[in-house]
Amino acid sequence: MNRVLPAAGVAFEAGADVVIIGAGAAGLVAALAANEAGAEVVVVERDAVPSGSTALSAGLIPAAGTRFQREAGIEDSPELFAADIMAKAEGEPDAGVVARLTERIGPVLEWLADAHDLPFDVVTNFSYPGHSARRMHGLPKRTGSELIDRLREAVEARDIPILTEFRATTLFTDEAGRVAGIAGMRPGGGEERVGCRALVLACNGYGGNRNLVARHIPQLAEALWFGHSGNEGDAVLWGQALGAELVHMSGHQGHGSVAQPHGILISWATVMEGGFQVNTAAQRFSDESHGYSEQAATVLAQPEGKAWTIFDERIAGIARQFQDFREAEAQGAIVRAQDMISLAAALGLPTASLAATAAEVAALKRGAGSDRFGRDFRNAPALEAPFCAVRVTGALFHTQGGLRIDTQARVHRPDGTTIPNLFACGGAAVGVSGSRASGYLSGNGLLAAIGLGQIAGREASCLAAYDRA
Ligand SMILES: Cc1cc2nc3c(=O)[nH]c(=O)nc-3n(C[C@H](O)[C@H](O)[C@H](O)COP(=O)(O)OP(=O)(O)OC[C@H]3O[C@@H](n4cnc5c(N)ncnc54)[C@H](O)[C@@H]3O)c2cc1C
Repeated sequence: MNRVLPAAGVAFEAGADVVIIGAGAAGLVAALAANEAGAEVVVVERDAVPSGSTALSAGLIPAAGTRFQREAGIEDSPELFAADIMAKAEGEPDAGVVARLTERIGPVLEWLADAHDLPFDVVTNFSYPGHSARRMHGLPKRTGSELIDRLREAVEARDIPILTEFRATTLFTDEAGRVAGIAGMRPGGGEERVGCRALVLACNGYGGNRNLVARHIPQLAEALWFGHSGNEGDAVLWGQALGAELVHMSGHQGHGSVAQPHGILISWATVMEGGFQVNTAAQRFSDESHGYSEQAATVLAQPEGKAWTIFDERIAGIARQFQDFREAEAQGAIVRAQDMISLAAALGLPTASLAATAAEVAALKRGAGSDRFGRDFRNAPALEAPFCAVRVTGALFHTQGGLRIDTQARVHRPDGTTIPNLFACGGAAVGVSGSRASGYLSGNGLLAAIGLGQIAGREASCLAAYDRA
């Protein structure tokens, strides 16, 4: 139920300068920023404890020119980062928003570290596809649950109220088109209304809404949904009712490396460091190095919608920094063998075919010939025994299409006007990946959650202060 109703005659039981719908990374960062800028803030969240897709993520955030990079001896710049985003998405995203986000995200991570005790550092031991510098920042455990817990603790430390088990259902607008407040369902079926001077939509995209996925991303309509069940497209549905412009609705982040049947994300380091993927015939089927997002549909197009990633113990050592990979090992998802014949036998793959495929990859790494799929293997070390493998499938991680926003995170109509006092951030807003899965550069999700979250919170607070005066 996503309604937009007239505010006339509606009595609000509570009110705040800035109301934020959703307590994922976007909503919590927006809350911290709005609070710091002087606003009275209320966050509403449908779950009993904030988690969202943020908690399911690896918690890795790309940022350029940070002091964390300098400490690790990495040279980078917002301009280089912006160029990487635009190149991956073939120029589709809004260049102004990309420039603003890539400039802001570094200072935002430093602010979260200094003011809110989030100890970021950089992943230095492997590169993500499409990034021309090592710029993925994470917390010590490299998990999204650590990220969301630390953000929630920071919000609680500032006494910013989070109304949990509050499923926002209704926006109320006045004659000028301003959002005057919201209503939501509380446990037991009661409704509660909260008035606001500015509203921030931080309730992510529509990946958990099968109808919307079938309409906008039909190739993944049957794919495993790997995000949070609460991502039901509320922001998109309210936006439509308010006359907002929806952009790049087919854009999304897929992933071609979810362990099957364990349902655990396997780091793409397994591929980028020199691993490769084969199908049930033990044959390669793509240039795996393009990116894990577009690889979701490619893997799903293989017989039985599955593939095996083949790598080695050195690569497993790099992937082991991620808790997900350690969990996959603990659950027996990673199969090991001393040679390719034994590995194929353990996996139930045709032995001669896997041996031939591995020999071909080894030759490409030595510089012999060129890959028929176009992958450049020359900088990847040869795989060495013991060899490792994991059976994987493709999944939908989150949607990247959404409400058109500007560099201040204000929501726009198709005619270029803004909807007064409405802001969007994270997966509620259109991302910077364009309209295709291949446009997703690693980290675009949390970049928009944390970068736009800070911008939306601050701008909403400024607007509320102006309104109060
Ligand atoms: C497995 C996985 C791994 C990923 N890894 C990475 C990564 O390493 N780096 C990266 O950049 N991105 C990654 N992503 C993407 C990233 O998780 C998302 O882009 C990001 O978390 C979005 O943040 P958000 O705050 O917009 O949404 P969420 O974290 O989903 O938060 C939205 C919140 O809104 C709440 N909500 C929704 N509707 C309502 C309503 N009507 N009323 C009240 N509350 C509501 C939800 O319950 C939820 O808590 C990954 C995604 C997945 C699934």
